[in-house]
Amino acid sequence: MTEPRVKAAVFDIDGTLALMNKEAGTFTALPGAIDLIAQCERAGISVVAYTNGTFFPPAHYHPLLADAGIHIKDGQILTPAAVAAQALALKGYRKIMVMGGDGTRVPVADSGIEIVDPTADAPSVDAVLLGYTRDFGATELEAVVQAVWDGAHPYAGSVAPYFASSKGRMLGISGAIAAALENATDTKVTVFGKPAVAGLDVVTTLTGAQAQEMVVIGDDPKLEIRMGRKAGCTCIGVTTGIANSDTFHSFPENERAHLVVENLTDLITHPIFAGT
Ligand SMILES: [Mg+2]
Repeated sequence: MTEPRVKAAVFDIDGTLALMNKEAGTFTALPGAIDLIAQCERAGISVVAYTNGTFFPPAHYHPLLADAGIHIKDGQILTPAAVAAQALALKGYRKIMVMGGDGTRVPVADSGIEIVDPTADAPSVDAVLLGYTRDFGATELEAVVQAVWDGAHPYAGSVAPYFASSKGRMLGISGAIAAALENATDTKVTVFGKPAVAGLDVVTTLTGAQAQEMVVIGDDPKLEIRMGRKAGCTCIGVTTGIANSDTFHSFPENERAHLVVENLTDLITHPIFAGT
């Protein structure tokens, strides 16, 4: 393939740049991550880290990644909740029911939207937004279902079934809640996270790069690679997370990574990252 001129590199976090230890709440950098980011800086390529997790608000990732030696510029870490909050504010929503932790609540509050908690006597809302939380029970589930029965549209940051951590697969709880909600309401949940391309529009706003000028690097062929291929980006799969090389290559040609590498070290001298 002809090497395009790359202006922005969009890295997944979990399984690509780093692995998260859930109990300790810390990250460990994966091989090559620190040096490849340094190479991007030398080459004048903007670096954006886009995680599909909604554990934390974007600002919380900066010190955690910095402790692992990964330094990302302010405002250049994205989460699906941050993408969702920006998009829902643009739609003119004023009041939404949020079932999620601070990772979802903080970006929504920052966007100026009023948050309604999922309780038995909740007032009517414009929409429902699902994010990662372990703090819920039947009352909360019933409240979001009731809101959708009453006409609110359901949205989610991510509906990934699971993601990679230092302990192996972790359940994607908002995906499980979304499935329960769809089962009860027969209403499809609209997703902002990967593989939806909404986050890449935010990358364009942040960096000025068009999709054709972006390289997307991720460990999940169903998430990062599908998102990047849909938008027209150069796509690189890395096998330090949930998929091996055979899995990446098992996808149809138009959804497949352009390149699959064992780890990020293999990319430091690759022409894609040489700059202009
Ligand atoms: Mg990942």
